[in-house]
Amino acid sequence: MAVAGDGHRVPDLYQKPQQTHVHSHSKILVPLTVHLATEHEHQSRTLWRLNRAVDRANRALARHGIEVVVHKVWRMPKGFNSITRRRDRRKLAQYAALDGTVHVFFVDHLELGSIARSDRSVRGMHWRYRGLRRNLRHREYITINSDAPSTTLAHEVGHLFGLDHDRGHRNLMCSCRRGRIQRFTHRQGATMRLEARAFFLRNRRYGGR
Ligand SMILES: [Zn+2]
Repeated sequence: MAVAGDGHRVPDLYQKPQQTHVHSHSKILVPLTVHLATEHEHQSRTLWRLNRAVDRANRALARHGIEVVVHKVWRMPKGFNSITRRRDRRKLAQYAALDGTVHVFFVDHLELGSIARSDRSVRGMHWRYRGLRRNLRHREYITINSDAPSTTLAHEVGHLFGLDHDRGHRNLMCSCRRGRIQRFTHRQGATMRLEARAFFLRNRRYGGR
């Protein structure tokens, strides 16, 4: 068992030995804490999607000296699988310990609650906490929907580390349908490295590792 951000006890499904050294001094390791909130699909399938998304992200990030590493996988209690309102996002935020890792939530249903149009469902989302709890301010999270392709994690990590959308269909930051050939440009890689360093400094300042 492990303790989530608000003191809830949740099963720790993924105990991986801590990485003690990095071979390349310039490589940036991005630790992910993954929260499984899905209820409509079997847990093994969510874990399979997680591995696929991590592999796809690392295939794109490797040439830019960044690697995402799954640090922990936690099962969320029932009732967090549908995220449609800002309030739902705030509830999720409480499950993210202030530990310097990037928190990624896998859910069944994700909608942009603030946008009034018929097609509000999205495949992934990166957001910043804007509630009143001071200790949660500056926190950033990634949510992945159950119908997301394997490229969505890479795309959301791009947003997390400062990238906007790109119109190029061969670019991972394209908001179009993404595929195998898509990648980050060198300029995007440089931005992500800068922003990733700033991200970890910020987290340290607010009580992270
Ligand atoms: Zn996007």
